[in-house]
Amino acid sequence: MTIDLSERVESVGPSGIRRFFEIAEERDDVISLGVGEPDFSTPWAARDAAIASLEQGKTSYTANRGKRELRESISEYVGDRFDLEYGADEEILVTAGASEAVDLAFRAIVDPGDTVAIAQPSYISYEPGVIFAGGEVLPVPTREEDDFRLTVSQLEQAGAADADVLVICYPNNPTGAIMTRDDLEPVAAFAREHDLTVLADEIYAELTYDEDHTSIATLEGMRERTIVFNGFSKAHAMTGLRLGYALGPAETIGAMNRIHQYTMLSAPTTPQYAALEALDTCADDVQEMVEQYDRRRRFVLSRFREIGMPCFEAKGAFYVFPEVPSGWSSEEFAETLLEEQGVAAVPGDVFGDGASGHLRVSYATGLEDLKEALNRIEAFLEEHEPIASS
Ligand code: PMP
Repeated sequence: MTIDLSERVESVGPSGIRRFFEIAEERDDVISLGVGEPDFSTPWAARDAAIASLEQGKTSYTANRGKRELRESISEYVGDRFDLEYGADEEILVTAGASEAVDLAFRAIVDPGDTVAIAQPSYISYEPGVIFAGGEVLPVPTREEDDFRLTVSQLEQAGAADADVLVICYPNNPTGAIMTRDDLEPVAAFAREHDLTVLADEIYAELTYDEDHTSIATLEGMRERTIVFNGFSKAHAMTGLRLGYALGPAETIGAMNRIHQYTMLSAPTTPQYAALEALDTCADDVQEMVEQYDRRRRFVLSRFREIGMPCFEAKGAFYVFPEVPSGWSSEEFAETLLEEQGVAAVPGDVFGDGASGHLRVSYATGLEDLKEALNRIEAFLEEHEPIASS
């Protein structure tokens, strides 16, 4: 006998990234440029605060919405850093990673048959999240010639005017694209005109290199129609501690909390102490990591260009998105590169429309490994010259 699975679950395949990394895990000489997580350890002060909370036996549930002190800190932090004004009482929900916040948002606002437009290439969780919530996905491809920024003409062409929700993620995973205030204005106007709710995944907001992050929620008339996601995984190197948060209008955050209080009760307690400390005292650690990412970013961009893989100027997150040479699909290229040179990068195709013909390369890896990986990719290209020029 087998237990019947729901149609929704059966309609969603396993993550393309995972499948690929199972191959990488079988070998021990692999340099991975594939992972979407910092190679740095969590700042020591944050770890220490978590340890101290355990020593003091602070292991009970917190309030459903998260520790009040933490919500107050988040409120202050997002205000100072990104001009976002959200009150600790009703407009902030602390979640088990931004992942939980994204899932809650879909479940709180999507009805069966609702259309959720997703700017792509995009992080791989949105599409399954929409399907689990019973919605329909409308991919909105962005283009390299627009530096992978979302434009109104792409929204119009995809038919997003008829959608109910729009998901954007800037700085972007997988492209590293950012959107400035000027880039966001027309998208915000489109959302207002067509009455779209906007879900803005801003988990990489701290990781921008040439320009500061602008949240779409700070644009006129957007606060009331936007839910912002952020968390501690990326900027504070806390992926395994699983802590994130959602910011939004009280009624929407309340609805998300209604699901959260039954399915999660509260986000894990120990990481909440770590997060509180991270916001209080770790801004310099974040700055130091950002500087190192930037050094690596500039190195990786220039090396890819030097070896003949065009690469658009990624200005955020910790990814670059080079083009694979003609004659290869991104999947073939990634698999052969892994097999022959032991360098793992993720084929662009797993990130949806507009992503084929590219590789996602993470530079959340030490500079020495990046140098060696780029040398191996150069050797690979030299070896396959006939295919590359065919
Ligand atoms: N959004 C994006 C764009 C991401 O890249 C990730 C992690 N890879 C997440 C959300 C999930 O983050 P968390 O660890 O906070 O669940």
